[in-house]
Amino acid sequence: MTQTTQAKLLASGLPTPCYILDEAALIRNCAILQQVQQDTGCKILLAQKAFSNYDLYSAIAPYLAGTEASGLYEARLGAEHMPDKECHVFCGAYREQDFEELLRYADHIVFNSPSQLRKFGARAKQAGKEIGLRINPECSTQEGHEIYDPCAAGSRLGTTLAQWNAEMTPELIDLLDGIHFHTLCEQNSDALAVTLNAVEKNFGVILHKVKWLNMGGGHHITRPDYDIDLLEKCIRHMSDTYQLEIYLEPGEAVALNAGYLYTQVLDVLKNGDINIAILDMSAACHTPDVIEMPYRPPLFASGEKDEKAYTFRLGGPTCLAGDIIDDYSFDKPLSEGDYLLFEDMAIYSTCKNNTFNGMPLPDIWVLRTDGSYELLARFGYEDFKYRLGSR
Ligand SMILES: *Cc1c(COP(=O)(O)O)cnc(C)c1O
Repeated sequence: MTQTTQAKLLASGLPTPCYILDEAALIRNCAILQQVQQDTGCKILLAQKAFSNYDLYSAIAPYLAGTEASGLYEARLGAEHMPDKECHVFCGAYREQDFEELLRYADHIVFNSPSQLRKFGARAKQAGKEIGLRINPECSTQEGHEIYDPCAAGSRLGTTLAQWNAEMTPELIDLLDGIHFHTLCEQNSDALAVTLNAVEKNFGVILHKVKWLNMGGGHHITRPDYDIDLLEKCIRHMSDTYQLEIYLEPGEAVALNAGYLYTQVLDVLKNGDINIAILDMSAACHTPDVIEMPYRPPLFASGEKDEKAYTFRLGGPTCLAGDIIDDYSFDKPLSEGDYLLFEDMAIYSTCKNNTFNGMPLPDIWVLRTDGSYELLARFGYEDFKYRLGSR
């Protein structure tokens, strides 16, 4: 993600709006993850819900142990596009009509509750699968983002100690090969250390009885200020104390800062003191996390509001009043036809976009390691229409 990559992309003249995945940046991230695996013996999986552009799987597969899925379709995607690697699945609740097919793709199946384990566990075991249960260590380490906190009061995600004590019979415990937790979101390893204390306190006894521990995602390992030493200490502590194989399944860390959204200014206007630019991309449709999370995506060659001479509020062409990205400042006033380049757009973007308002879906391009551009996907009217009715 050098200055020159961004300058090159900004001047590329590719048809807008489009996502551009940066193959070299993906590989740089995955090399960091590979180092953690080599240092500690842990295994790292790609959480596909954050990044599932399968055309890039062959480039990153050599650095990873496999994929993690949120259900049937992601499990199939992982099995098809990262074959010969592990395929793990966790789902809040599996459907009876999906389960046989799921057994074809997944080798590790994690259940959310004792009742789901009771319903499906023996069948999965007979099919030769590794069985896990997601626990809830009831240890919140984040503030503000309640929708991203599976340890919030009343959470449906993971089995609490009280639920465990009420429902986990010896027969159910016997089915378990591993324990899974996922409680972090964009966090450093200090939050993992705090979480592990709670995991050991509540579930230490059971950790001695299973083979593996999956510590979920939310580890921002490839962020420059991430404390990898502490992560590796945490991993070694758990594997040494309990003789466990350790899995991590980050999504963001795999594709952090490894993609862009390239867009063009369609119109500029002014309402009172506020300069507004309407872009050919929509926050609501193409970067829904900007509104949902919410967050402010980095924009190449821009400043904070009022930091540079000309501040503009950037928004999409949809009818949603809140379809606003944020206020950004520039050295020169924006005008119709200007190109802009949003950064860190590989995660939770292409896999989460939608066609609300009949908005077209952006192309997906990849910037290959040799500097060439390749078009992976282009969408049209049919992609909008056939989600809505008969073909
Ligand atoms: C979301 C999720 C992940 C990946 O989280 P990131 O924040 O993208 O690293 C991993 N495992 C589970 C169970 C998840 O729900």
